[in-house]
Amino acid sequence: MDFAHSHETTAMRILVAGGAGYIGSLVVAELSKLGHEVVVVDNLSRGHARAVLAEIPLHVGDVGDEAFLNAVFAQYQFDAVMHFCALSLVGESVQKPLEYYQNNVGKGLTLLQTMKEHGVRYLIFSSTAAIFGEPEIVPIPEDAPKKPTNPYGRSKLIFEEVLEDCERAWGLRSACLRYFNAAGATPELGEDHQPETHLIPLVLDVAAGRRPSITVFGNDYPTPDGTCIRDYIHVVDLARAHVLALNALLERDASLRYNLGNGKGFSVLEVIRTAERVTGRIIPFEIGPRRAGDPAVLVASSERIQTELGWKPQYPELADIIASAWEWRQAHPDGYGDGHR
Ligand code: NAD
Repeated sequence: MDFAHSHETTAMRILVAGGAGYIGSLVVAELSKLGHEVVVVDNLSRGHARAVLAEIPLHVGDVGDEAFLNAVFAQYQFDAVMHFCALSLVGESVQKPLEYYQNNVGKGLTLLQTMKEHGVRYLIFSSTAAIFGEPEIVPIPEDAPKKPTNPYGRSKLIFEEVLEDCERAWGLRSACLRYFNAAGATPELGEDHQPETHLIPLVLDVAAGRRPSITVFGNDYPTPDGTCIRDYIHVVDLARAHVLALNALLERDASLRYNLGNGKGFSVLEVIRTAERVTGRIIPFEIGPRRAGDPAVLVASSERIQTELGWKPQYPELADIIASAWEWRQAHPDGYGDGHR
């Protein structure tokens, strides 16, 4: 069935959990631009109140707090929920697995329980390429084997499985969107993580003179220049995919699973060289050892969402993605300037 041309939907009331974070805040802006009524819940552990537009209600609290969530659900009658809340640092997840399972699975269960109690049956969930682990097939399709290699990836896979159980038990309908590497910005909203571990903002920090250099983890991979290849998707393209998935979820009343990437891979050195061209600055780097568990190539097949929902990346060029992130970084040298950096 083709959903690409059937998206004229009425305005909905949507809870965005984790809407003060990087991707969530951009999705909030997109939903609000389309006339949907959006409410944000975020504990601000990793997000920024300033990333939420002034006119959007922001309820500061934890999705694991039953009483808090109940009050929010009682105040608004939501049509659907988008769930961006997570701890999402792979290395940290290896050090602190219990915190990851507690936050990404345990607290998510409270959100699901509250949805069930308030009769909300539609959920969009932020999943990840990390559920696949070391891929056997590249580009990675949705039905590729799922063998996560760290607690972060496992926490997301477990939650996907919980969603299937809830579908069988009480009719939950979920769209799991497995993002590869989100990158880029709009003039208003960008990436401000603390600590920052993502390649593009780190490289731009070097360009901006905030870090002396960047370490490339391994240059002996079986790739053309020896460095790892990753798939970078512009957050605005991600945000549009959320809107398409939401509409399809409600129209089809059936669950959806989509991998979301650019479909094109770029090596670490290509990212550095492209950032040098975009910024006009030299970006010094040194070669370090490989990191354990880093696959050589991670590229998504986004064919399913392209075919079924008519999604297509509008910003597939790496230079455009980096340029948007650079523009935001220059306009916001201290990020959101709230000390979370
Ligand atoms: P982010 O850390 O910027 O946003 C997550 C938000 O959730 C933060 O604002 C944080 O304060 C909030 N949060 C976390 N736990 C919470 C809790 N228990 N209760 C209430 N709020 C809570 O992360 P992001 O980069 O925007 O990623 C969003 C989602 O997408 C995450 O689930 C992440 O795992 C997933 N993802 C991100 C990427 C990426 O490239 N950034 C790739 C794949 C998947």
